[in-house]
Amino acid sequence: MPFMAEVDVNKVVRQHLEMEGFFTGFAVRGGSAVSDDTASEAGLQYAVVSSVPVAKAPSPPSAVRHPQAAADAAGELAVVAAEAGQCRKCQLGSIRKNPVPGEGHPRARIMFVGEAPGADEDAQGRPFVGRAGQLLDKIIAGCGLKREEVFIGNILKCRPPENREPRPDEIINCLPYLQRQIEAIGPDIIVALGGHAAKTLLNTVKPISQLRGQFQEYYTGIGRPPIKLMATFHPAFLLRNYSEQNRRYVWEDMKKVLAELGLPIPDRNKG
Ligand code: URA
Repeated sequence: MPFMAEVDVNKVVRQHLEMEGFFTGFAVRGGSAVSDDTASEAGLQYAVVSSVPVAKAPSPPSAVRHPQAAADAAGELAVVAAEAGQCRKCQLGSIRKNPVPGEGHPRARIMFVGEAPGADEDAQGRPFVGRAGQLLDKIIAGCGLKREEVFIGNILKCRPPENREPRPDEIINCLPYLQRQIEAIGPDIIVALGGHAAKTLLNTVKPISQLRGQFQEYYTGIGRPPIKLMATFHPAFLLRNYSEQNRRYVWEDMKKVLAELGLPIPDRNKG
């Protein structure tokens, strides 16, 4: 009989519970992660953009910067979502169940960008709703934020079959949708989840281990100011490669994001 490493099931379960618990149970003190409160003023509340209807939540208070900004951004996001929904530039458009354009606040200060939808996302037409999404929700909550306050998107808007990696031609075809979303939202910080998102947005081949941990710059065009980008490990990577160190890396990265935005860093006693 071939040698098989013994798996300590209790240990694996304990590690997963510990990791998922790590990002919960914080004491949160105020602060806002959205650029302005014009969405609520305009009666929009959260203009969540998705290919399927999503329950609306009330807008938190924050300083108004541009009276029409939220409505304009929501409009452009809806246009991008509609175009992505019709897109047949690559074969993924023909084999998907639903496009996954992304969703969130149209004036979010933080924009999370993942790799591509998986099976759960394809089924629901919403980003990060599977296991990795549940961990991302915990990370967002651990930061003292609500999912509705941030924007969550992906490099690809359609699911690659068998969850294979995005191909270069698919990225090239799909990237303009994300670029337009970034332009519409104008986030203060992009959080690139995992190597694919980070390498694509930074146009580099450097590994995520070298990119994460310090702010990078996402270029928005010649003569225009760059947007700060924090790369961090993808929640799916965290789920697959549990270690206290990896978990802490993500928390350290997110603390830098909160500090940069002047948002409160939730109290915690675990590091
Ligand atoms: N992984 C991603 O990169 N994106 C999703 O939407 C879900 C899982």
